[in-house]
Amino acid sequence: MAFWRRISRQMQAATDSVAVAPALPAVERPKSPRSRMMRQYDLVERVRSYNPDTDEDLLNRAYVYAMKAHGTQTRASGDPYFSHPLEVAAILTGLKLDDATIVAALLHDTIEDTEATRAEIDNVFGHEIGALVEGLTKLKRLELVSREAKQAENLRKLLLAIADDVRVLLIKLADRLHNMRTLEFVPHASRRRIAEETLDIYAPLAGRMGMQEMREELEDLSFHTLDPEAYAVVMQRLDALAERNRNLIGEIESQLSKNLQKNGITARVYGRRKQPFSIWTKMERKSVGFEQLSDIYGFRVVMADVESCYRALGVVHTTWPVVPGRFKDYISTPKQNDYRSLHTTVIGPGQQRVELQIRTEEMNQIAEFGIAAHAFYKEGEGSPTERLKHESNAFAWLRHTVGILSESANPEEFLEHTKLELFHDQVFCFTPKGKLIALPRQANVIDFAYAVHTDVGNSAVGCKINGKFAPLSSELQNGDEVEVLTSKAQAAPPSAWESLAVTGKARAAIRRATRTAVRDQYAGLGRRIVDRLFARAKIEYADDKLKGALPRLARASIEDVMASVGRGELKASDVARAMYPDYKEERMVRYGAKRSLADKLKLKSPPHPARSASVIPVRGLNSDLPVKFAPNGGAVPGDRIVGIVSPGEGITIYPIQSPALKDFEEEPERWLDVRWDVDETMPQRFPARILVHNVNEPGSLAQVATVIAEHDGNIDNISMSRRSPDFTELTIDLEVYDLKHLSAIIAQLRAKAVVARVERVNG
Ligand code: MN
Repeated sequence: MAFWRRISRQMQAATDSVAVAPALPAVERPKSPRSRMMRQYDLVERVRSYNPDTDEDLLNRAYVYAMKAHGTQTRASGDPYFSHPLEVAAILTGLKLDDATIVAALLHDTIEDTEATRAEIDNVFGHEIGALVEGLTKLKRLELVSREAKQAENLRKLLLAIADDVRVLLIKLADRLHNMRTLEFVPHASRRRIAEETLDIYAPLAGRMGMQEMREELEDLSFHTLDPEAYAVVMQRLDALAERNRNLIGEIESQLSKNLQKNGITARVYGRRKQPFSIWTKMERKSVGFEQLSDIYGFRVVMADVESCYRALGVVHTTWPVVPGRFKDYISTPKQNDYRSLHTTVIGPGQQRVELQIRTEEMNQIAEFGIAAHAFYKEGEGSPTERLKHESNAFAWLRHTVGILSESANPEEFLEHTKLELFHDQVFCFTPKGKLIALPRQANVIDFAYAVHTDVGNSAVGCKINGKFAPLSSELQNGDEVEVLTSKAQAAPPSAWESLAVTGKARAAIRRATRTAVRDQYAGLGRRIVDRLFARAKIEYADDKLKGALPRLARASIEDVMASVGRGELKASDVARAMYPDYKEERMVRYGAKRSLADKLKLKSPPHPARSASVIPVRGLNSDLPVKFAPNGGAVPGDRIVGIVSPGEGITIYPIQSPALKDFEEEPERWLDVRWDVDETMPQRFPARILVHNVNEPGSLAQVATVIAEHDGNIDNISMSRRSPDFTELTIDLEVYDLKHLSAIIAQLRAKAVVARVERVNG
């Protein structure tokens, strides 16, 4: 059904070449803030007034589309929901923005709140508008996520970091401004949060984009909500002051104009009162009373060209006494947000300090409308949009801000007039669902995975960054979308990650996980040892019985007992004695001395096939298992092996031919079934030792080393001894992949003329 509704709506929108909105759905409007909603032709008229080439048909279709999409939805005020996007569009006509921006404003809530889709909007309005609407949808979703996570600060950074089209930010600001204007209809509980967010995020953002008017309105609306008492006090004082200085503004205005005119300068002079919020913050910041504020009144002196500005400054400075230290030339040195003006303060009529801003008409537009004003003041090719995107200094500045986020340059001036902080120490990335993850710079995907969830980190095996496969160690960039691929087969992260991870959170989690994994291994080992002893002594083992014996063993759980046995802190016989106080340890002499090694090894094969599951798997040198290899000779896959448990050290793996095994014959409980567990796809090396009898001639050692290197053997250590004048014995510790690899190297060595004999050594 939804599909058909959508299609028919789409067809209708597409075929209504002269779209006329149907009558508004009848809704109750109990406390509407406005007497009437703006009409379709009002909006078109507003756009046409500054843009005669506007595509009226496009505007009309967007109007109809958005109105139908929002249907009978209503706002908290009781107004039809559609009144909101309409007002947002109207705010943007005040900034004289292009058709695409106005249309996107009309559509800005459709993807998120109605059945409209990006594909459909692309289809009906084109890709450019589709991209703008999607940008807004993305911001809205992020906002929701961020709100939950109390990530207001992150959101603010993010707005700057991800908006690749500045028009998205302009629409977002207009959206917020309208929401703030209608905040009184929102439930009390959310009002404060929205106002705080506005003050923290959106007002500074508007300021940074050079849009002072919008910034001031956002600030005052927030201030009014957050601190109504203070707001009332400031307003009261302002009104009283206005009463006292009723004629002041007019007097200054006329004196200024007259003096300028005398000097042949045509200028528009107008005074304005500072906004309550900026007065309040000044009082707070400087701890001064209202009376001490010098610049409650500001005057704008606006003229045609830059030269006149400096001439006007001269006139002002010869007419009234100058307050020292207050002159600033932002014309020759514009602010970061492209603001340009001459600032000065003089003592005007009635000993009132008066702040003056002298600037050209263009500078005035930029000061008030910021980035938006550039569309109409910059000469150049392309549509206003293109100019807005590519030529505006303010936009360049915005990109610069984003650049600073990613580079960590730090011009101090940058921070002077804004509350925004620098975020160069952080990087912002997203999950595929759009959740924002803030990480320190240089963080990689491992950090990201742990930031998402510890389980995700522990089971991460690969990742895609912006849809492309990448290594987990990849350093993340602002705006990266990261998909972590996980595998249940990975029980614990490789311990090497601990040094790769940048965040403390990831490091701690990796340490914990590997520790747990090692503990599990010890516990498994311990259980194996206990099983063996009980089987041999023909006594019955039961978890319940061990549970009863826990206090005697001073352990909290069965797992603890087993891990302790595995680590060698407890002996299996201690466990048996704790469960059966009359258990006596037998010396199993016959088991050792009287039987051959081979016989014993036969006995070691698992009694039941099912048992083999608990055989300890042996991996390579960098395994997290408490596994070592025979210290004098090693062991390699292909060797038949046994494990010998050493208290506190874990298992040592010996090839069955190792003579060293004789030393353990009288301690059968230390013998353990082990098997190789080698991952073919990730070759690992294992230690082995060979003895090479070399003809004693120059360069023979080099020849041996070369053969080994050429066949991908890794020499770990070489020791040399001379047994006779003609021969040298080389004991070489190698790292090889397996027995086949080792045999191949030995064969190659034997083929060398300088090599007399080669044998493998088992210690
Ligand atoms: Mn909205």
